Amino acid sequence: MVVTAAKPHKGPPESGPALRVRALEAILTEKGLIDPKGLDALVDTYENKIGPRNGARVVARAWVDPEYKKRLLADASAAIKEFGFSGLQGEDMMVVENTPEVHNVVVCTLCSCYPWPTLGLPPVWYKSGAYRARVVSDPRSVLHEFGLDLPDTVEVRTHDTTAEIRYLVLPERPPGTEHMSEEQLADLVTRDSMIGVSQPVAP
Ligand code: FE
Repeated sequence: MVVTAAKPHKGPPESGPALRVRALEAILTEKGLIDPKGLDALVDTYENKIGPRNGARVVARAWVDPEYKKRLLADASAAIKEFGFSGLQGEDMMVVENTPEVHNVVVCTLCSCYPWPTLGLPPVWYKSGAYRARVVSDPRSVLHEFGLDLPDTVEVRTHDTTAEIRYLVLPERPPGTEHMSEEQLADLVTRDSMIGVSQPVAP
């Protein structure tokens, strides 16, 4: 069998995993098991069309609407679906709320499980072995490296995402934002603040 590259290769030489993925894609395409156009559309959707902006809208709504926040904390999947965000890698969502007493951080210790419909695709560091191990054993020093130093009085809780449950952090609404609209608030919510390694942007 002749295996041809599915896509022309431009740019710097690819790494081991990237080469293996390309070879797999070529074989599966040749066997007629996948459609490369469909695959490209799927990647494009999660890379470019769906991103942390979705999660930011959910957080901003929870900040301005106490009833929505109640629903979000009680049944995150259903409350997030009110925005139309659901599907692949986001079927069973759990939202954990930051308070002055508790700060939540999310990891997938096993691999890289992540809530795609609300945050898009995970950042590279989220998939790294160093983050996955150290955020469990020593979360405070990891948060420090992200520029987040929490007082000792704040309890740090690390949540291990699995193939079943995907976590989203509901950060605290920054002070001085009382006058801001829901849309303006959404602009303050960063991807990292919904993973729990930083705070939302100050207004
Ligand atoms: Fe995983």
